[in-house]
Amino acid sequence: MAESARKETDIKVYVTLGPYPVDLLTLQERVGLSKAESILMQGMQLAAEHVGDGKAVALGEIGRPHFEVSEEVMDASNRIMKHGMELAADLGCPVVLHTESTSPTVCEKIAIMADSVGLPRDKVVKHYSPPLIDEEENHGLFPSVLAGKKNLKTALKKGDRFVMETDFLDDPKRPGAVLGIKTVPKRTIKLYEAELLTEKNWIRIHKENPSKIYDIDVEL
Ligand SMILES: [Zn+2]
Repeated sequence: MAESARKETDIKVYVTLGPYPVDLLTLQERVGLSKAESILMQGMQLAAEHVGDGKAVALGEIGRPHFEVSEEVMDASNRIMKHGMELAADLGCPVVLHTESTSPTVCEKIAIMADSVGLPRDKVVKHYSPPLIDEEENHGLFPSVLAGKKNLKTALKKGDRFVMETDFLDDPKRPGAVLGIKTVPKRTIKLYEAELLTEKNWIRIHKENPSKIYDIDVEL
């Protein structure tokens, strides 16, 4: 998909790759939890190989289901996520985490897990993050804030150590879900015009932050 987008447009495309956490449940129904866990572990390994080959820049979305699950599923998900963090630490790449609702407590636990495998906390991107910008809130994880109006206004009041996302799905049955694909540039321009986002914020959020996290060179 990235290849064809690069061929057909002049857009730069960076890929993050990883076994989607919720697939553990679908697989569990078919082959049981322990086999399902081993399939996701293999998927993690494969994704890591592609990062190693330079075809992807991060492992993600990986993590845990975003809804209540059994203790066994939670434990298996944590083992898979931790393994992803280990591989990322070895590769020197980030992880992009999909988890239950992001709270300071969740961030702290995840940060401790990253510490335990030697993955720097700022190489942990918390996908679908509310505006938890202060360090006491995110415990050093890197927030990828869903680009809703309210979220961004709150985030910008606290600083600019975050990136923006749409969580765009490209599912023909759910057009525009979660946020439309043009939301990030649209909101950025609007906030800039309203003087709620400075040029410095713009460069930090859209160039410096992603360049540093993903070890890429984002051009504006
Ligand atoms: Zn997600």
